[in-house]
Amino acid sequence: MARIGVTGLGTMGAALALNMADRGFDVAVHNRTEAVVDEFMEGTGSLSDRFTPVKSLEALVDALTPPRAVLIMVKAGDPVDAVIDALVPLLDKGDLIIDAGNADFNDTRRRTARVTDEGIGFLGMGVSGGEEGARHGPSIMVGGTEDLYRPVQDIIEAIAARYQDDPCAAWLGPDGAGHFVKTVHNGIEYADMQFIAEVFGILNASGRSYADQADLFAEWNGGPLQSYLIEITAEILRARDSETGAPVLDVIVDKAGQKGTGRWTVIEALKLGQSATAIEAAVAARSWSAEADARAKAEETYPTGTTRMSHVLDGDLEKALLAARMIGYGQGFALLSAASRHFDWSLDLARIAEIWRAGCIIRSSLLDDISSAARDGLPHDQLILAPGIAPRLADAVEGLRRVVLASMEEGVPVPGLAAALSYFDTYRRARGTTNMIQAQRDFFGRHGFERRDRDGTGFHGPWAESD
Ligand code: NDP
Repeated sequence: MARIGVTGLGTMGAALALNMADRGFDVAVHNRTEAVVDEFMEGTGSLSDRFTPVKSLEALVDALTPPRAVLIMVKAGDPVDAVIDALVPLLDKGDLIIDAGNADFNDTRRRTARVTDEGIGFLGMGVSGGEEGARHGPSIMVGGTEDLYRPVQDIIEAIAARYQDDPCAAWLGPDGAGHFVKTVHNGIEYADMQFIAEVFGILNASGRSYADQADLFAEWNGGPLQSYLIEITAEILRARDSETGAPVLDVIVDKAGQKGTGRWTVIEALKLGQSATAIEAAVAARSWSAEADARAKAEETYPTGTTRMSHVLDGDLEKALLAARMIGYGQGFALLSAASRHFDWSLDLARIAEIWRAGCIIRSSLLDDISSAARDGLPHDQLILAPGIAPRLADAVEGLRRVVLASMEEGVPVPGLAAALSYFDTYRRARGTTNMIQAQRDFFGRHGFERRDRDGTGFHGPWAESD
């Protein structure tokens, strides 16, 4: 009998199942298209004895030791509901379903309620690290009741990445908490990728060769920017297309895909009265990238000419990336705090930063500092106000400012970097300019305002007197 079942042997499900077997667990494996199970088994090599291949969900359930644990790793959305609908009648009370795909946490909350009603447990589990991570150690963010997590904790911790022996897996809170944290993780990832892509654009506009840029990113990876995304950027800049021998970046269409997690982050931020503008800029840039024909027409209408940037220092670019990264993480953590309060999740922000230090796409040396800052408590829930972060951001942000200014002068697009800078400049003003907005609201809609010189609400401007 197998300890756990996996249904969905696509990229991620297959890698997770192999990872579990590698760690000594017996796994029953199933896939909707039966032939995929055979293909999977052909690639299991010396691990094949650990697997029980099955061709139906009934057989999957029969192959498991009760109380059963079934991990679903199928395409996000309706397929998850379809698999749950098929599984629930086959399971007994006390069994457990784990959805390890990228679910919208609202769906996870709904599914948790639906499955719990049937006496079956449900964990919504975010897995980050792509195929490689899933195979050799991802970062794992679990939501559901803690009681449900305990029986599978050993498996989840065993397959997770390790940061100095600390497993990058944790139970984070009830129902949708795990998928919410994974969503925000992806939002931060969107922003970080966008910042890097913009710096790539600036370096291109400065006439720097890919080889030169690769060296620069590799050098940055040895400093405060050390991270997986900076590391792979250097590798990508060096890579050549195997068919044509051209730099691989030159053969790739500038159209970025998205599966929804960035958009969900922005939507949830707005719902919670937050605004993750750097992440929003990254989502927008991917959306605009899909409009190739309109962009070609726009370039014809408003020609850019040949852009030559010459006055951006490498040191400023490094600082710009660091400042923007801090702000991107800051917006993500502010969102996590807001969600934790709203849903009463008691999210441990320090632990979240810790489990992102290995295995996941946004792993970076900055997360060590972020976890320490969160452990000490974030002033006003703001990472950018943490004593361990603020002096570094204050220093780096001036580089960000010079880079954004120089780019804007030349018309080189920097929507993510500019959004990060604008957020910083807006946030650090104790007195902003929304008094004007409040006056306008009162002028046309008698919405009232608060006065600086006395308590109370509902004051009106002189325009109200003429009514
Ligand atoms: P793949 O496209 O490689 O595999 C999809 C799997 O879903 C296949 O096993 C497919 O079965 C199954 N499936 C699709 N529709 C149905 C259905 N209606 N009923 C039953 N099974 C169905 O996807 P991935 O492995 O890349 O992604 C799986 C999940 O993991 C997604 O939620 C994704 O967002 C998430 N994820 C992916 C990451 C990545 O880097 N790829 C990283 C982190 C999370 P069949 O063979 O029959 O078509």
